[in-house]
Amino acid sequence: MPTARVVAVAPGSPAAAAGLLPGDELLTLNGEMVRDVIRYQIQADEPRVELEVRRGGLEQLVLVEKDAGAPLGLDLASAVFDRVRTCDNHCPFCFIYQLPPGMRKSLSLKDDDYRLSFLYGNFTTLTRFTEADLERVLTEQLSPLYVSIHSTDPDTRARLLRNRRGATSLRWLAALLDAGIEVHGQVVVCPGINDGDVLDDTLLGVLDRFPGLASVGIVPLGVSDHTTELEMRPHTRAEAERVLDIVDAWQSRFLAALGRRVAYASDEYFLLADRPFPALDAYDDLPQHENGIGMATQFVGEVRAELAGEIAAVQGTRTGFFAWVDGAPAEGYRAPRSTESVRVELRTTPGAPAPITILTGAYGAQVLGSVADDLSAVAGAPLRVVPVANQFFGGNISVTGLLTGPDVARVLTDAPAGERFLLPDVVLSNGRFLDGSTPADLPRPVEIVATDGASLVRALRP
Ligand code: SF4
Repeated sequence: MPTARVVAVAPGSPAAAAGLLPGDELLTLNGEMVRDVIRYQIQADEPRVELEVRRGGLEQLVLVEKDAGAPLGLDLASAVFDRVRTCDNHCPFCFIYQLPPGMRKSLSLKDDDYRLSFLYGNFTTLTRFTEADLERVLTEQLSPLYVSIHSTDPDTRARLLRNRRGATSLRWLAALLDAGIEVHGQVVVCPGINDGDVLDDTLLGVLDRFPGLASVGIVPLGVSDHTTELEMRPHTRAEAERVLDIVDAWQSRFLAALGRRVAYASDEYFLLADRPFPALDAYDDLPQHENGIGMATQFVGEVRAELAGEIAAVQGTRTGFFAWVDGAPAEGYRAPRSTESVRVELRTTPGAPAPITILTGAYGAQVLGSVADDLSAVAGAPLRVVPVANQFFGGNISVTGLLTGPDVARVLTDAPAGERFLLPDVVLSNGRFLDGSTPADLPRPVEIVATDGASLVRALRP
């Protein structure tokens, strides 16, 4: 029987007044066995909630009366109380197969669960989706969802997922769209397999069969040193340029046919092809910001707005259902990054501000390069942007979010003393790097700065 473990009870909340305690296990709410926080939320919103609770092996009923829609005040240990639906695909580009040995077990969980798609924006392939799931999505209006497409050609999709059901599971996508569910798609492009003409056909397939898709993100595969897949390799510059040309051509066609751009290429492609990023309005409402699409343009815009004393429009961060779930923990890449906000004041000589070093991934350094002079001017101190090579994963892994403690430590060990070191919080999840280490393990103190342009400017201001 699925149970939800309480990890915290908000002081003064209805749950606290009713005597609920951390460690309690919730068995039922209003007589319903709850499988996940989605059902939990629906029951917890009621003005009268009867909880069947197990504490110390004994079961008891607890009644909570409150205003309808008011939170109970419980934090729960997980979002899904029965088993997370794991993925039965074996994609050759899957990053989980490319992790170095010895990493935390939780990072190796291959989920393919539409509930986590709804809660956290994880992409699902729908290969394990069922009629009952469709009925639940429609009944509870679980929207938006995020679906991995990769190719609309059945054989290519089955080959990429290494799963025969990959050839047919996009029928569920059509059913979701027909029922009015908002769905965002993604295509992970693997050179030689689903790029070039196959990508062109995929976007034709989107227009032809799935015109209701809200957006499709086109992202390159990541290849670490630990892949065992001989077919998987990074894009060449020419291949990246071709991807951009295809997406650009299809944006025009989608605009003409649907009045929307629909397809967006990831920031990484512009860096690989050494092309300027599009203007912010070319990303519309940044529907795939969390997927690395439009982040660079938005970041530079935030820096410029902060320098000009303007408030940058906040766009692109989709909290969705998660914003109003009472009790669900933050998981995956949407977990809180860090609660740390440490400013270390170092002065080399009286009155002279300490030199500043911004540590970032190779791609982040390229993006910062376009505003480096402005940032130096605002800092009023010598400023360096240091790209940290990702030796932990190796390969073509250059995004800042995958930097680990050992990589940052290596750079800090060789850095001169007496500097301020700034590190974006995107490298952390719940205060830890991917390898499990924390900023406290680094050889020098670092200042953790929120990963947006305005926060960086504010951290640099004397
Ligand atoms: S569907 Fe996702 S988790 Fe599953 S093998 Fe493919 S990339 Fe990995």
